[in-house]
Amino acid sequence: MALDDQTRKQFVNAVERFVAERLLPNETLVEELGRVSDIILGEMAALGLFGLSIPERWGGLGLGMEDEVAVLIALCRANLSFRSAIGINNGVGSHGLLIYGSDAQRQRYLPRLAGGDLIAAFCLTEPDCGSDAAAVRTSARLDGDEWVLDGVKRYITNAPSADVFIVIARTDPDSSDHRGLSAFVVERGAPGLGIGKTDRKMGLHGSHTADVTFDNCRIPADALIGELGFGFALAMSSLNRGRLGIAAAAIGAARRLIDEALNYATQRKAFGAPIAQHQLVQAMLADSETEVLAAQCMVEHTARRFDRNLPVIKEASCCKLFATETVGKVADRVLQIFGGAGFMCEYPIERIYRDVRVMRIYEGTSQIQQLLIAKQMIKEHAGKR
Ligand SMILES: Cc1cc2nc3c(=O)[nH]c(=O)nc-3n(C[C@H](O)[C@H](O)[C@H](O)COP(=O)(O)OP(=O)(O)OC[C@H]3O[C@@H](n4cnc5c(N)ncnc54)[C@H](O)[C@@H]3O)c2cc1C
Repeated sequence: MALDDQTRKQFVNAVERFVAERLLPNETLVEELGRVSDIILGEMAALGLFGLSIPERWGGLGLGMEDEVAVLIALCRANLSFRSAIGINNGVGSHGLLIYGSDAQRQRYLPRLAGGDLIAAFCLTEPDCGSDAAAVRTSARLDGDEWVLDGVKRYITNAPSADVFIVIARTDPDSSDHRGLSAFVVERGAPGLGIGKTDRKMGLHGSHTADVTFDNCRIPADALIGELGFGFALAMSSLNRGRLGIAAAAIGAARRLIDEALNYATQRKAFGAPIAQHQLVQAMLADSETEVLAAQCMVEHTARRFDRNLPVIKEASCCKLFATETVGKVADRVLQIFGGAGFMCEYPIERIYRDVRVMRIYEGTSQIQQLLIAKQMIKEHAGKR
């Protein structure tokens, strides 16, 4: 259900106030603690941020995609680890349960995911399978009234703290492609479930990834989500929505970078004038503004299509590709505008520069988005002939 214009504006205003009053003053604390504090997580939960996309009947806010995009743009002006804290619950960690799950599964997990009482992880990537998601090797076999999982998942966001894991595994041992994959919900504490050492990363230091291992891991038969063989469809439909979310996050981060650049460039003087008066600096500001505006228009357009149930496979990939490449370019230009100060840790630019880098990699690299866009274009072209 999409909000009416006035309600959306009120909610986005509330998020903007929360960002200004609570998140921005606490963003360096995230780096010092190496995590988002429990107090801030509680405040985010109270605002409903863990359940933006989860329908009201399952305890969430039930926002439409256009509303969610507006909220994410506002939220992502602050340290991107705040968005990571809510990202999986709102996206790949709940979407599959919502679309394919049984009522019992929805009832069991969604209200607590929406309230931030449960933290979700989404387990697709493996040591030998990332971009080629259909090559998953983790296996699941039925033994009596239990599934037995074996395999390793890599770089799994929230793994160290997650309560519930959505896992894509191969249920047809004779298959080698997407048709043999199914999805499961695995609870922390399941026998044979292990969590590896927390990864040391370039950025997003308030959000944590680790391996998730399944060693003869036994889960009940009703942990299967949807039907056998639906795992790949579930993963792809979850990622479709997730890609729009990441594109919106990239726009929020880019807007923050541009604000920082304007503040700095209008104060900092060189050759007797604020650097903002120098035309080569103006060119970097103008190019950044132009590209971010273009990315925002694309994302808002695609979100409206999503809310009207129109196809967005191609458009969501276009948004993810363009918005995440754009924020990379903007971060580089803004660091340049800051000169030596941009390289120093006392300004937020170097952190944002590192944090936005992964946006071009996870939930499908830029190259994978290019392949998806071209594949869809060719398909649409063939359909017209
Ligand atoms: C911080 C972080 C958090 C993550 N969180 C999660 C998570 O929660 N759950 C999860 O399942 N995964 C997660 N991932 C994994 C992420 O989704 C993968 O890293 C990503 O999909 C790329 O896979 P890969 O690393 O195996 O790279 P590869 O697939 O090995 O790709 C390496 C390079 O080759 C290119 N390439 C591959 N195939 C092609 C092709 N056909 N044509 C052209 N170029 C190609 C890629 O674009 C890339 O540049 C996370 C990763 C990071 C860094």
